[in-house]
Amino acid sequence: MSKDKGFVTEITPQAEDFSRWYIDVIKKAELMDYSPVRGCIVFRPEGYELWENIQRDLDRRFKETGHRNAYFPLLIPESFFQKEKEHVEGFNPELPMVTEAGGEILEERLAVRPTSETMFGHMYAKWINSYRDLPLLINQWANVFRWEKRTMPFLRTSEFLWQEGHTAHEDEADARRETMQMLDVYTDFVESVLAIPVIKGQKTPSERFAGAVDTYSIEAMMKDGRAVQAGTSHYLGTKFAVAFDIKYLSRENTQEYCHTTSWGVSTRLIGALIMVHGDDRGLVLPPKVAPTQVIMIPIGPPKTRETVIAKTDELFAQLKAAGIRVRVDDRSDVSPGWKFNEYEMRGIPIRLELGPRDLENGVCVLVSRVTGEKKQVPLDNLAASVAEMLEEVHAQMYERALEFRESHLFDVETLDQLKAAFEEKRGFAYAGWCGDDACESKVKEETGATSRNIPFEPQTTKSVCLCCGKPAAHTVVFARAY
Ligand code: AMP
Ligand code: ZN
Repeated sequence: MSKDKGFVTEITPQAEDFSRWYIDVIKKAELMDYSPVRGCIVFRPEGYELWENIQRDLDRRFKETGHRNAYFPLLIPESFFQKEKEHVEGFNPELPMVTEAGGEILEERLAVRPTSETMFGHMYAKWINSYRDLPLLINQWANVFRWEKRTMPFLRTSEFLWQEGHTAHEDEADARRETMQMLDVYTDFVESVLAIPVIKGQKTPSERFAGAVDTYSIEAMMKDGRAVQAGTSHYLGTKFAVAFDIKYLSRENTQEYCHTTSWGVSTRLIGALIMVHGDDRGLVLPPKVAPTQVIMIPIGPPKTRETVIAKTDELFAQLKAAGIRVRVDDRSDVSPGWKFNEYEMRGIPIRLELGPRDLENGVCVLVSRVTGEKKQVPLDNLAASVAEMLEEVHAQMYERALEFRESHLFDVETLDQLKAAFEEKRGFAYAGWCGDDACESKVKEETGATSRNIPFEPQTTKSVCLCCGKPAAHTVVFARAY
């Protein structure tokens, strides 16, 4: 029995090997497969549909906040990256280059985009002339490429799918408002759609996006206690405006540089929702993005099969008409028990069972994937009962994830305490930090934990730096991260 042939027969328990569990689950549930290209995965339909559902909800939120979509080229002239010093230093090691095309060596090498601040900057310089053109609020849905050394499906791949918002504003205040607004959009989306609680805060300078003035993030805790940066929003100041000459005629008739922002979330969110909610039986998908929200399984002996299936089809049509993503599995060559396991493994939020007895009584049974709780509900008005249960499942998932996080947060005073805590317990640690890069890198060297962010609303406030004992400038969340 080889698990590496791509066919997973059993799921490794989380407690035995969490990474193995993760790979087993995503392969068995057919979310992805490895590709022949290093660090690049294939998003199979079950995985891609999760992304489509994430996209649809976020896209609506972006439009509601005044943004429009556009599409910019995949290839970016190498010289664009030289224009912003920190940006080039940050991204150079990760850039694949097109050097040759059509049988000829190119005059200028073209980078496969790792992010598009430079291309947007170049175009914004052309499009923005006066304050009347501002703010300019554009988002793009695209693939990007970063030559990552260490990869993990969905969480960190070389090619990934994302959205990148790029905006230009008259002044710092307006750009900072936008930066915070989009961080809030991400927070609300991740919590209320993916059922993942997050810690919102500011990145320390060493973890800042290359070329940003300030980077903000939301950080989520996985079930092995490690962190995933679920989204980032950057205030770029006038750095890219100066590099690309994005100027406008102000209300006072002077030429001014724009203040710009950028913000993004990626297919990493798929990895996060799997690692936050999944269990030893497999995936547990948040109802609001699950490709299938309800699986209907007709049961009972062959002689009642026809009537049960006829009713199943009728109910299926009702649920579908109510906008519920529903599927029926009426195969007669597989047992109901086998189907129950299969759809639990695939993480479908609700299983609907309908048998001849239920039919006589005008009821059916709904089973929650997250709690296993069974509920008998009347067939009259079934769509309303199902919709209500989907909401309950979402709330239960959020509560569970929050409880897990709360019980894996601890605070420490010293580096030794941090080390001891991480040896004993998985999770996030709150600690004081003086603001010196050296102290932060020492933590990383000695514990493998990095600063996740400086939370806006820390649970506790620390007064001394965990490394040097000097007064703390900030309370920081440290964790090992994906
Ligand atoms: P950044 O442009 O570095 O601020 O990243 C934007 C978003 O993409 C963040 O939500 C990151 O967590 C995510 N991200 C960064 N690198 C990767 C990667 N290699 N694979 C998947 N997602 C990524
Ligand atoms: Zn210090």
